[in-house]
This record gives sequence, C-alpha cells and structure tokens, in this order.
Amino acid sequence: MKTVTIILPAYNEESSFELLKERMGEVLKQNPDYNWEFLLVNDGSSDHTLQQMMRLHREDLHYNYLDLSRNYGKEIAMMAGFDYAKGDAVIVMDADMQHPIDVIPEMLQYWEQGYDDVYATRQDSKESWLKRKTSHWYYEVLQSVTKVPIQKDTGDFRLLDRSCVEALKQMRETERNTKGMYSWIGFRKKGIGYKQLERQTGESKWSTRALMHLALNGIMSYTTAPLRLASVLGLIVSFAAFLYLIYIIVITNLYGEPVQGYPTMMVTILFLGGIQLLSLGILGEYVAKIFNEVKGRPGYFLNSYNGERNHVAKN
Ligand code: UDP
Ligand code: MG
Repeated sequence: MKTVTIILPAYNEESSFELLKERMGEVLKQNPDYNWEFLLVNDGSSDHTLQQMMRLHREDLHYNYLDLSRNYGKEIAMMAGFDYAKGDAVIVMDADMQHPIDVIPEMLQYWEQGYDDVYATRQDSKESWLKRKTSHWYYEVLQSVTKVPIQKDTGDFRLLDRSCVEALKQMRETERNTKGMYSWIGFRKKGIGYKQLERQTGESKWSTRALMHLALNGIMSYTTAPLRLASVLGLIVSFAAFLYLIYIIVITNLYGEPVQGYPTMMVTILFLGGIQLLSLGILGEYVAKIFNEVKGRPGYFLNSYNGERNHVAKN
C-alpha cells in the first residue's frame, strides 16, 4: 500500500481541530486504499494548538506532529513538513480546513496516472474585488519577467510526488517563495479546479503588510529582473540627458540665450536622485538576500517531533 502524507501547517488554530479531526476521518474513510499520515506542523503558536496536536497523536497514530521552536511563517512550516513527511506522495493543506477534502480522490487519481504535481486552482474566490485584481496583476508581472510558466490562482493546496518533495528538500533557501519553487522544479503537472471554502473558525494570519512582503519576496527570490530595470532606467535617463545637452548647445549657439537656471536644474537633480535611490534600493534588497542566505543558517529549529527532542529526519 502506498503512503500519502497530508501536511497541515498551523499557527494559532486551536479552534479548527474539531473540524480537522472530522475531515481527516472522512479522508481515511473515503480513501481506504492508502496508508495515511497526517503531519501537523505547529508554527510557534501561542494558543493551545500544540496541546491539541499532542492529544490527536495520543488518540490516533495516523497523526504525527512537529513543533517548531518559534513562528517561522507558513513557507518554512511547509519546508519542515517536507523534511519529515513519510509519504510516497504529500498533500499540503491549510489547517483551517479552507481546502475541501473532496478534491483529494481526484488528486490521487491523477497521481496514479503518473502526474507528479497535481495542483488545485481556485475557481470562485470569495476575496474582495481589489484583492483578486491585485493578485491577478501580480501573476501577470511575475510571469512577464520569467520563462518558467507559473500557475495562476494556485496556492499551496496540491499533491506532490516523492520526486517533487525530494527536489524541494534540496532547495534550502530560507526566504522562500514556495509557489515559484513548485514551478521551477518542473515535473509533470496537472491542474484541477476547486471552490475555496469559508474559514470556519479563527482568523486569517495574513495582514496586508505580510502579503506585500510575500509578493515582493516572490519577485526578488524568483528573478533578477529588477536589477535590469535599474540599468535600463539609467540608460534611458543618460540618453535623455544627452539629447538635452545637444539641445542646449544648439540653442545657446544659435540664439545666444542665457542659461536657464533654477527650475530645470531642480527637476533634473530630483529626478536623477530619485532614480539613483530606487536603483540603490533594488540593489540593497538583493544584497540583503545574499547576506541572509550566505549565513547558511538552517531554515528552522525543532522543539520536538512527536514529543521527541533532538529527532533527526531520516528520509
Ligand atoms: N500559517 C502558518 N504560519 C503562519 C501563518 C499561517 O503555519 O505564520 C498557516 C495557518 O495556520 C493556516 C495556513 O497557514 O493553516 C494558511 O493561513 P491563513 O488561513 O491565515 O491564510 P489565508 O487562508 O487567509 O490565506
Ligand atoms: Mg485560511
């Protein structure tokens, strides 16, 4: 029998556990041809999420749990999940149960047909118009600067074959944009549609600021295109300045006009200053990334695996 692991990253989700247990029970019942592992990842919750995980693990050996040493964010929580998942395939799902389990049999079916990455695409998002639009534009921008195809309206809800998991495990960057990484590793992909459910309990952990950070990080960790933008801007400005120089030489020689002073000077200086700062900023963002990666720190530390301290993942 093949083993399938469901990775469930959870940050302050204590109120979701009743529903989670119920839904995972249904998964077991609906798909008896597989060995199931439910890998709960506690991402440094400050509520009773960990206690809930311990209880589930005690009551039912399908459940394993990882307890991270602090809150690292969902991307890193998933990375820890990949490290410890035992399955021949892995499904990543939100612990708030916004992802419908009815899609799972279809995912398994495609997996059996030989697809390595079966990703679920949101069909009718309940997000606000603005959020939907910005997300749409973001994908457009990201896609326009890279050759690797990116799946639209796709989150982390997907089934990954062991080969994909092993590939992701080798990518140890700590500032992660997992969405970009799924595309980057390639393998045989298949998209299926699903309707995102309403969050039942608790609240979304993503503030607008965190989303902005994720978005910027996505572009920066995916491509070096912004650096090229700086060079292109520099080129355009120099060219414009050169034209202006010729214009001034001609004007002064033909008409003997006195040099126009303050306004043109001010505009030029401010404009140039702006572009220089922008380019410096872009450069700085990448240097900061290099700084963070070059330290070569592990992505996360564990308090325990199933209550066991100093556990080392063996697969
Ligand atoms: N999450 C996490 N660490 C964090 C933030 C979120 O592990 O720092 C988990 C969270 O518990 C949930 C999933 O990531 O299972 C998605 O988070 P959320 O529901 O807040 O995001 P949304 O559905 O609003 O995009
Ligand atoms: Mg959610």
